[in-house]
Amino acid sequence: MTAPPAVNLGVRLRVLAEAVDSSAAQVVPDSPVGDHRDVDAVTAFAAGCDVLTFDHEHVPTRLLESLEAAGVAVRPGSAALVHAQDKAVMRRRLTALGVPCPRWALVHDTAELEAFAATTGWPVVLKTPRGGYDGKGVLVVGSAGEAADWLERSHHPDAEHADALLAEEKVDFVRELAVLVARSPSGQAAAWPVVETVQVGGICHEVVAPAPGLDPDLAAEATNAALRIAGELGVVGVLAVELFEVTGDDGRPGFVVNELAMRPHNSGHWTIDGAVTSQFEQHLRAVLDLPLGDPRPRETWSVMVNVLGGTYEDLYRSYLHVLAHDPGVKVHMYGKGVRPGRKIGHVTVSGPDLDDVRARARHAADFITGVIDS
Ligand code: ADP
Repeated sequence: MTAPPAVNLGVRLRVLAEAVDSSAAQVVPDSPVGDHRDVDAVTAFAAGCDVLTFDHEHVPTRLLESLEAAGVAVRPGSAALVHAQDKAVMRRRLTALGVPCPRWALVHDTAELEAFAATTGWPVVLKTPRGGYDGKGVLVVGSAGEAADWLERSHHPDAEHADALLAEEKVDFVRELAVLVARSPSGQAAAWPVVETVQVGGICHEVVAPAPGLDPDLAAEATNAALRIAGELGVVGVLAVELFEVTGDDGRPGFVVNELAMRPHNSGHWTIDGAVTSQFEQHLRAVLDLPLGDPRPRETWSVMVNVLGGTYEDLYRSYLHVLAHDPGVKVHMYGKGVRPGRKIGHVTVSGPDLDDVRARARHAADFITGVIDS
């Protein structure tokens, strides 16, 4: 999804691809295959680039530090990126900055988990500080007994606290929101409107831009928090701040931060079709320290629905149907094999009527997946 704006901006992309047939390698000619954890592979790859950036956060922090020491322009830099790589580091820093977070603690054993739960009550949300995505690495536990396996098994060699789990209170949220901002090395920043994200089983299913009925003060506070986090952490590129909307004791809406991503993010896919500047274009502009583009929406509403793999492997017929049935639907397929639950594409519909665009986007995604057939 970064390739089209790179072509338009006249920027040459190189991708360190995990396999010859990975999504990016299918559309970027200069895509050597290599392991993002292999120092030699990443170092050789970086030698041919002016700027190194990411589409996931799993490149080991120490490897990035060694590239920076050798003079490679890594954007975002390792000191910022670690907050998107390690949830324990992120919680500590956001708490120090006074950004609202769920109550949290690092726990090493049953006794520490029980001591934490005594302050928050059960259930407790347990997270592996490193390596999680799409809800993998998140476990809701109703007792210390349910956490026994995780407390025993959880080790990540790169984690700052290799033997600890992050415990969080289970937030009784109204809904999930996300704020996407971009920041360049010169310090220019831009923010898209706050969106609502709908997750099922830890996987993002749907994004509505802007978040319907959002209190304007809350929207401003959340956007300011995201811009402040980007500045304080020295983020370069796109920063996604995932939030829970909560109701305060005074009945007023508020938020707590769930997690950070420092790359184009699923909550911003709607911007490809729905905003003047997409998150992918903005990320390129930001990491290259070019002037940023206008983040404003093109239409009142945009709804993005992920196409998740279902039971049908051959999606061509349903794809044809969707294109013919509703010419206003923007369909994006990633060239990935179908596996149940895997994100293999997304659709976006934009327009003036939220109910209409949401219904059309859901219908298109469900039809491609094979959930419905009429
Ligand atoms: P991942 O890194 O896999 O995306 P997240 O930390 O975003 O994991 O958690 C996945 C989902 O689990 C969230 O979108 C949310 O629905 C739920 N969740 C995570 N943390 C909490 C929490 N403290 N309270 C309530 N729900 C949570």
